[in-house]
Amino acid sequence: MPLTVEKISEGTVIDHLKAGSGAKVLSILSNAYPLNKMAALIMNAPSKKFGRKDIVKLEGVFLDEKTANRVSLIAPSATINIIRNSKVVEKRAVEMPKSLSGTLRCPNPKCITNLERAETTFVRVDAGHLRCRHCERLFAPEELA
Ligand SMILES: [Zn+2]
Repeated sequence: MPLTVEKISEGTVIDHLKAGSGAKVLSILSNAYPLNKMAALIMNAPSKKFGRKDIVKLEGVFLDEKTANRVSLIAPSATINIIRNSKVVEKRAVEMPKSLSGTLRCPNPKCITNLERAETTFVRVDAGHLRCRHCERLFAPEELA
C-alpha cells in the first residue's frame, strides 16, 4: 500500500535527498526554524535517480540562504521546491556556495576561530572538500554541517 503524506499548501519540499540524509536535514531545519508547523520526513521513497531517496516537507517555512547553504553540505543533490497555493512555484537545485562565512564552526579544536570565538570562513576546494581559511585544514562537507 502506498504511503500517503498530506500535501502542503504553503511551504517547502526538499526532494532528491540521498536515502539516509533526510533525518540530518530535518535536524538542521529544526535548529533554524521553530518546527511548530507541520513537517514530514519521508524515508526510502522510490527514486529513478537514486533507487531510494528521502523527502522533507515543511508547511509554512521558506528556507533562507544560510539554511539552504547548510543543507547543501549534506545534501548536494537535493532539489528545493517552493509551494504556494498548493502549487510548485519555484524549483531549484541546492548549490554549495564557493565560500561560507560566519555560521559554521571549525571542527579543529585548535583553530583560532574556536580559541578566540572568531568568525569562520570555509572555501570550497572541490565537491568533497572545504578549507578553513584560518587553520587551512580540509574538511568533508558533512563534517561542517
Ligand atoms: Zn579552522
